[in-house]
Amino acid sequence: MSEFLFHGAPRIMALANQKGGVAKTTTTINLAAGLAELGAKVLVVDLDPQGNASTGLGIEVAQRSLTTYDLMVDESPLDLVIHDTGIVGVSICPANSDLSSADMELIANEKRSHLLHDALRQPAMDAFGFDFILIDCPPSLSLLTVNALVASHSVLIPLQSEFFALEGLSQLMLTIREVRQTANSELRIEGVLLTMYDKRNNLAQLVEADARENLGELVFETMIPRNVRISEAPSYALPVLAYDSASKGSEAYRALSLEIARRYGVDSKLQESGV
Ligand code: ADP
Ligand code: MG
Repeated sequence: MSEFLFHGAPRIMALANQKGGVAKTTTTINLAAGLAELGAKVLVVDLDPQGNASTGLGIEVAQRSLTTYDLMVDESPLDLVIHDTGIVGVSICPANSDLSSADMELIANEKRSHLLHDALRQPAMDAFGFDFILIDCPPSLSLLTVNALVASHSVLIPLQSEFFALEGLSQLMLTIREVRQTANSELRIEGVLLTMYDKRNNLAQLVEADARENLGELVFETMIPRNVRISEAPSYALPVLAYDSASKGSEAYRALSLEIARRYGVDSKLQESGV
């Protein structure tokens, strides 16, 4: 068990936004790496048939014989689907294109919305000692994303700092409300994260002001700047924190990790260890 844990069971967080390209995967990978730097044990669950989180954490396609799909649909044992990554403290349940047919295949399954919940919250998970489970959602409000919301304690919403960013949000908020009413009343919004933020750009500043005015405390204090090192890192199969530790992108994801870690009462623990 890691030093980090205070509550006994992992905190499960979905990273969701039905828009593609808003930095869901980038944030999943780098938040995982940032929390791991703080001493947490983190499991990344790749729930996108594109498997970008798996690739970004160095899991070759050939290594993905069992995936999140098998975990959900065939109840494959956790130790067969969970892999170590090259990053200390970060494990992954990988994905491949098998997941793309899940929506259709599961339509007649009574438990179709709860499959990921049942997989991630099974007692056998405790033996792994994870502090956080981060679920990288596909760019849709499909059954897969609903599974993530049903399985999670909270949802982190990356928002690209561009025009119309807030408009897409209302649909996601509706889905979250629906899930709360039907399947998971404890689902909270962990926060809305402004990504690819360019402080010299007036439009980005407007989006930020708009988001902070409308969403208030839900918006993370930390914003992720547009940073080329962040976009280069996946081609080296590394989080930016490992690819270029001193970059602005790494600094930002460290700040986000700390902002989140503090919510779970780790301040004193972190101070003790000098973070
Ligand atoms: P999603 O998972 O929401 O589809 P990604 O995380 O794949 O989005 O990000 C989309 C693209 O934007 C990727 O090429 C990624 O490398 C790039 N990207 C994400 N965040 C940043 C950033 N802060 N600065 C520069 N490029 C970024
Ligand atoms: Mg993605």
